[in-house]
Amino acid sequence: DPTLMVADLTKAYNHGKPNEVRVLQGASLTVKRGEVVALVAPSGAGKSTLLHIAGLLDTADSGTVAIEGTDMTRLSDRRRTAVRRATVGFIYQFHHLLPEFTALENIVLPQLANGAATKPAEERAMTLLDRVGIAPRAGHRPAALSGGEQQRVAFCRALANEPSLLLADEPTGNLDPDTSDKVFDALMSLVRDTGLAAVIATHNLELAARMDRQVRLHAGVVEDL
Ligand code: ADP
Ligand code: ADP
Repeated sequence: DPTLMVADLTKAYNHGKPNEVRVLQGASLTVKRGEVVALVAPSGAGKSTLLHIAGLLDTADSGTVAIEGTDMTRLSDRRRTAVRRATVGFIYQFHHLLPEFTALENIVLPQLANGAATKPAEERAMTLLDRVGIAPRAGHRPAALSGGEQQRVAFCRALANEPSLLLADEPTGNLDPDTSDKVFDALMSLVRDTGLAAVIATHNLELAARMDRQVRLHAGVVEDL
C-alpha cells in the first residue's frame, strides 16, 4: 500500500453562502514510501487545505484519505487523532516551537506525549539535532537560535515520533535565500535518511526540482508538472 493515498477530495468553505469558495474539486494524490513530492501552487490555491486533510487535521466534504492502506474516513475522530499523532509529521513556514523550552525539550515533549520514556526520548532528540548539524545548540531556547536553526529544530520535532508521512507547508518560506538552501539541504538529507514519504509545498521551483516528483494544485485538482 502507498503511504498516502487521497482520492477525489472535495472541500468548500462557507457552504451555500454568497462567499462560498470551492477549494478542492476532485483532488487526488498518491505518495509511495520514500517518495518526496513537491506541491507547487500559488497562495490561495488550497495547499494548506489539502495538507491538513491529508494529515488528518481536517476532513474533506467528500473523497477518501488512506494512510498505509487504511481508510481514514471511516475512523472515529478519536482514532483518527491517534493515527495522526503516531503517523504524520507536520512542518510549517513558522516554527511554532514552545518558547519556554529548549531545543532538546521541544523534541522530547512530543515523544513523552506519545508514551516514550525520558532517556530514550532525549537520545533520539540528540541524534536528530546532530543529523541537522545543531547538536551544540540543544540547550538553547528558540529565541537564542537563528531562524535557520529554529526551523531545523522544527524538522527534528516533526520527525520525533518516527512518522511515516511528512507534510511540510513552505518549510523554508520564512528564511532568506541562502539560509533557505542550506536548511532545505538539511531537511532533504533527514528525509532521505529516514526513508519517509513526504509532500513538501513550496513556491520555489529550484527546490521543487530537487524532489522526486512535482505536482501542482490548480483549479482544485492535483496535476503532474
Ligand atoms: P494556500 O495554502 O494554497 O494558500 P488555503 O488552503 O489556505 O490555500 O486556502 C484556500 C482558499 O480557501 C483561500 O481562498 C482561503 O481564503 C480559503 N479558506 C481557507 N481556510 C478557510 C476557512 N477556514 N474559511 C473560509 N475560507 C477559507
Ligand atoms: P498555516 O499557516 O500553514 O495555515 P498553521 O500553523 O496556522 O498553518 O496551522 C493551521 C492549523 O493547524 C491551525 O488550526 C493549527 O491549530 C493546526 N495545527 C498546527 N500545528 C499543529 C500540530 N502540530 N498538531 C495539530 N494541529 C496543528
